[in-house]
Amino acid sequence: MNDQDSALLSRSKAAAEAKIEESAAALHELSNDIWTHPELNYEERHAHASLTDFLEREGFEVTRNFHVDTAFKATYGTDGGAHVCVICEYDALPEIDHACGHPLIAESGAAAGLGIKAALELPDAPKGRVTVMGTPAEEGGGGKIELIKAGAFQGMDVAMMVHPYPRNVSRPVILACTTMDITFTGRAAHASSCPWEGVNALDAAILCYANISAMRQQLKPEWRVHGTILKAGNTPSIIPEESQMTFYLRTVESLDMPTLKEKIGGCAKGAASATGCKVEFSFGGDYANLATNEALASVYERQLSDLSVDYAVSEVTFSTDMGDVSYVVPSIHPLYYIGTDAANHSREFNTATGADAAQKPTLTQAKAMAFTCLDLMQPGNRHLLDKVKKEFNDKVKPLNVAQS
Ligand SMILES: [Zn+2]
Ligand SMILES: [Zn+2]
Repeated sequence: MNDQDSALLSRSKAAAEAKIEESAAALHELSNDIWTHPELNYEERHAHASLTDFLEREGFEVTRNFHVDTAFKATYGTDGGAHVCVICEYDALPEIDHACGHPLIAESGAAAGLGIKAALELPDAPKGRVTVMGTPAEEGGGGKIELIKAGAFQGMDVAMMVHPYPRNVSRPVILACTTMDITFTGRAAHASSCPWEGVNALDAAILCYANISAMRQQLKPEWRVHGTILKAGNTPSIIPEESQMTFYLRTVESLDMPTLKEKIGGCAKGAASATGCKVEFSFGGDYANLATNEALASVYERQLSDLSVDYAVSEVTFSTDMGDVSYVVPSIHPLYYIGTDAANHSREFNTATGADAAQKPTLTQAKAMAFTCLDLMQPGNRHLLDKVKKEFNDKVKPLNVAQS
C-alpha cells in the first residue's frame, strides 16, 4: 500500500471506531431489548423489529422478512468494490432463554455495520458495500440454510460473525452435525403372565445406547455422538412395544459424516437384531462444518492484536449453520470471552449475556470485524481479498457440501 492508501485506511478505521464508541449506549440498549424478550426459532418478531428499526434509523436500506419471516437484510454503499457481510443472530433457547449469547451477536453485527458505514461515508472512501444480515433460528432451525437456498449470500465477497464463548478463539473447530431419530418396534405382552410372547423395544433402546457407547473407542477424538431415549413404555406390567431415541452426530469434516452415520446405524441395527425388534431410523437437520478461511482469519487476528486482545487459535466446539455459509462465501466465526467461564447453554451464560461486563468485549470484536472489512475494501489491499478468494476457490468450493 502506498502512503496515501495507508493514510486513508487509518482514517477509515478511526471513523469506524468513533462511530461504534459513540453508539455504545444505543447498541447496549438494542441487545438488552433482545435479551429481555427471548424468542425461539423462527418466532423472533420482536428482535426482527428492533434490529430493522435501529438499522433503518441509522441510514441502512432495510429489507424486512428477507426470504424468511424473521430474517432481514440491511445494506449500505456502492457497487463496484468489495461487498462484505456481517451477520446477526438473535434466537433464544427453550427454558434457558439467551444462554447462547445471541443478543450480543446481534449487537456486534449491528455495531460492525455502523462502523463500516461510517468509514464508507468519508469523502474519499473507496467503493464498497456492507450488508448486515439478520439470520434467525440458529439453534437447530437452520435459518442460514434457508437463506442460502434463497440465494441471499450471492455476490458477497466475505461473511463473518462473532459468537460469545468462555474463551477467545480465532479459528474454532466447528463441527458438522446431523440429527438421527430411531424407532424400535416390538410387541406388547403381559410382563408377568407371558413375557415370552413380547418383543421388548426398551431392551432394544438400552442395547443401542450401549452399542454406541462401545463404538466411541473407534471414533475419531473430535467426533461427538450424544442422545437420549424419548419414549420406552409406560408401565412395568407391559413389555414396551415401542421406543424412540434421538441423537446428534458430529464430525470435524462434513465429508466424514457418511462414515459416522453408517457406524451408528449399525449400532441400531445390532440392537434390533438382538431383541427381535424392527428398527427405523432417519437423519436430518444437517449443519456443515465451518471451513474457516485462513487468509481472512489472519486479517482478523491482526486486528485482534492491534486491539490488544489475547486469543487461542483453535479449540473443538459446537456446530452452527454458519458452517453452511462458509461453503458459499469465504467466512470466519471467531469466539470471544464475555466475562464468564461458564459454558454456553447454561443459566450462568444467560446471566452473563445480559451483564454490563459483556459490552466492552462485544464492541471490541465489532471493531475487529469492521477493521477486517475495511482492510479488505481498500483498493491498495486488493491482494488480500484475492488471497481470500483464491483459498476459497481452491480448497472449499470443490468440496461442495453446502445445501445450496
Ligand atoms: Zn447455542
Ligand atoms: Zn449460539
